[in-house]
Amino acid sequence: MAKRDYYEVLGVAKTATKEEIKKGYRKLAIQYHPDKNPGDKEAENKFKEATEAYEVLSDEKKRQIYDQYGFAGLDGMGAGGQGDYSNAFRDFSDIFGDFGGFGDIFGNFFGGGSSSRGRSSSSSGQGASLRYDLEISFKDAVFGTKAEIAFQHNESCEACHGSGGENGASRKTCPTCQGQGQVRRSAGFFSVAQTCPTCQGSGTVIDNPCRKCGGTGVQSKRRKVIVTIPAGVDDGKRITIPKQGDAGRNGGPAGDLIVILHVAQHDYFERSGQDLYCAVPISITQAALGAEIQVTTLDDRKIKLKVPAGTPHGKMLRLRDEGVPYQGSSRKGDLYIKLLVQVPARLSSKAKSLLEEVARIEGENDSPKLMPLSELRNNQ
Ligand SMILES: [Zn+2]
Ligand SMILES: [Zn+2]
Repeated sequence: MAKRDYYEVLGVAKTATKEEIKKGYRKLAIQYHPDKNPGDKEAENKFKEATEAYEVLSDEKKRQIYDQYGFAGLDGMGAGGQGDYSNAFRDFSDIFGDFGGFGDIFGNFFGGGSSSRGRSSSSSGQGASLRYDLEISFKDAVFGTKAEIAFQHNESCEACHGSGGENGASRKTCPTCQGQGQVRRSAGFFSVAQTCPTCQGSGTVIDNPCRKCGGTGVQSKRRKVIVTIPAGVDDGKRITIPKQGDAGRNGGPAGDLIVILHVAQHDYFERSGQDLYCAVPISITQAALGAEIQVTTLDDRKIKLKVPAGTPHGKMLRLRDEGVPYQGSSRKGDLYIKLLVQVPARLSSKAKSLLEEVARIEGENDSPKLMPLSELRNNQ
């Protein structure tokens, strides 16, 4: 059946003001509301038609689209959707205020309306994706590892193979709503759409529900999977394991399992991008005279490090390719080692007299000049 022009339906001009549109709708709604015309199919259709027209013309954005593109422009915008009058009735009390008392009724009905749409869309199709938070050590994040994780997800019921029916009984169209997922209910003055109480909006029911899963077609199962964590991952990295989320409903695909990595801190190493940072103490004599020291890397190798003579406190040494691997590449970042010159807190009398000797030979500056900031920064 061809649709009538919305302006024509409400009996207003194309240039009508908001107030005129509201008045036009109010008149029709009172005349044709289903409770005043019980069993009158024509009145019900007129009421629906007027409400749909009002829903569009009272919304500035929708009205603009309608004016420009006609009905085609509104496709998929929810305009004229089956029994979805929630927008039209948002300012319900504004329109029908003088009748009083209906706001609450509609508030209740439409309160349930939006969540039922959510329910019905999840009652078929893809299963939910699941999130798993996995804590790994700093070292495992740098070098990669495999981790076994156990989790609970919904699988297709073994007994009914996901159909939800006992002995292979299949689903049939819901007799209450004829598969619409919604029923019309009389609410005092008006009739409104509500999620079907028999099928909870799915539009189908099972005569003889599977005893194992209660007709849901799924059962909760504990699973274990091995997650491969590549070398070089950082905190917050997501690893998707396809099809290990909840099973789909009514033959829909399963969701994914999404593992989110949380990298623990290390006692001695930290990381910035692909570079690693650590610090080692050296003595004042090693700093002054130079030395060869041995340090332990993140993967417990001993490497030799040359401390040049005259090394200042805070000097940073760089070891190329001793950092974190770049993912999917043989390249690595660098390892930075900060040298911290330790001043002895206590001296033996022998060491003390030797240092006094050094001080005497070298001379001490009693009035040092301030250190330029640029030099301070170089030493950090
Ligand atoms: Zn079952
Ligand atoms: Zn139903």
